[in-house]
Amino acid sequence: MGTLFKNGTVINAGDSFPADVLVEGEKVVLIGQKIPNGNHKIVDAKGKYLMPGGIDVHTHLELPFGGTISSDDFNTGHCAAAFGGTTTHIDFVIQPKGGSLHDGLEEWHKKAGHKAMIDYGFHLAITDLRPEVMKEIPSLVADGVTSLKLFMAYKNVFQVDDATLFRAMMTAAEHGMLIMVHAENGDVVADLIDKLLAEGKTDPYYHAVSRPSAVEGEATGRAIALAGVAGCPLYVVHMTCDEAVTQLRLGRQRGLPVMGETCVQYLFLTVDDLKKPNYEGAKFVCSPPIRTEYDQQILWNALRDRTLQVVSTDHCPFWFEGGVKGRIAGKELGKGNFAKIPNGLPVIEDRMKIMWHYGVNGEHFDANRFVELMSTNPAKIFGLYPRKGTIAVGSDADIVVWDPKKRETVSARTHHMNVDYNLFEGRKIKGGVDKVFLRGSQIVDGDQWTGHPGQGQFLKRNAYAAVL
Ligand SMILES: [Zn+2]
Repeated sequence: MGTLFKNGTVINAGDSFPADVLVEGEKVVLIGQKIPNGNHKIVDAKGKYLMPGGIDVHTHLELPFGGTISSDDFNTGHCAAAFGGTTTHIDFVIQPKGGSLHDGLEEWHKKAGHKAMIDYGFHLAITDLRPEVMKEIPSLVADGVTSLKLFMAYKNVFQVDDATLFRAMMTAAEHGMLIMVHAENGDVVADLIDKLLAEGKTDPYYHAVSRPSAVEGEATGRAIALAGVAGCPLYVVHMTCDEAVTQLRLGRQRGLPVMGETCVQYLFLTVDDLKKPNYEGAKFVCSPPIRTEYDQQILWNALRDRTLQVVSTDHCPFWFEGGVKGRIAGKELGKGNFAKIPNGLPVIEDRMKIMWHYGVNGEHFDANRFVELMSTNPAKIFGLYPRKGTIAVGSDADIVVWDPKKRETVSARTHHMNVDYNLFEGRKIKGGVDKVFLRGSQIVDGDQWTGHPGQGQFLKRNAYAAVL
């Protein structure tokens, strides 16, 4: 006995078609017209869309940062993701200072294993590339970790110099791994922070002033040039502005193996949000910072013309009012000093519904491109395709039953993320999740959670991923 999805419309990256979908065990086994009911459990998807589960390739659950920890763990964060239609995510393991890459990997496996509600993979963020750590890199492929992240920013914390970045690229190229960069010139940012604080400019808004778009553009161009020399596939995370996107477009026009993502927040928020009174601007502090309406148009265009391949979240929530009511510390840590505001935003649950409403309903792109940005491209780039990222015979039955008529007012009162505010508070949207299945098991039924901890599996990802 399997589960038979009847009367729905399958939406994949390539096409949309009315079909029944039969799932047996964890896999899709048959797609066709009028599949007999047999003794299968029937899911009536009349008027609904069947889409592959969302894949969010940029998250930070339970991340130690700036003297506190991000407030969603692998339980709450997974649950929130699933309510938003995301069934797989890839989180960043951070190499501990003085430790090995495998020390970090072990730590993250411990955080995730018993709690996981959806499937997950890991990238490895390298912070200290000593010679013995360089030797360790190739062994990660056997562990299913095929992407490395390097920070060109966060001086004296995560930042690496160009020599380190280039060496990592050379090693990655040799072993079929992908390099990801946080592209901002951290040296310049560090000086600007000191200058602004010395001038008494301490409000959340000055966080953005300390990280101008030019320093993102410069670092992006540098990383692309180095990747070209190393012959290494490069994926630039959280791109926010014209200067950076222009560098990516030029690199791609030259035929370099370079790709990029933006995150939901950069398409909707602006620096004016950072100026909100009563310290509320801190709710919107992340790095790189949110930009201008002009940059938003550049990003929408880049999603349409395929300069950008993915929309992720950089989900890294912190309480607005932390340190009270049993909560760990949060955004309040930066009162009187913008440089101490924990960087990060809550987005994991809202990614798909917000992008559907404004992207598809708003006619920036069609439903197939939506699936491509949310699921198929992430799966291809990060070595999960065709197991994930498509509804096809033999693929994992990660299926979202999407209701294009569902109406919702987004709010922190109803969201599932473990945080006391929502970036999209009060927005009225159309289209959202009806049911969610993870490898054939239903985990979301309307407002009900039907999954269980430990159900999510660690995904070993393939090397030599697609360059799109
Ligand atoms: Zn991040």
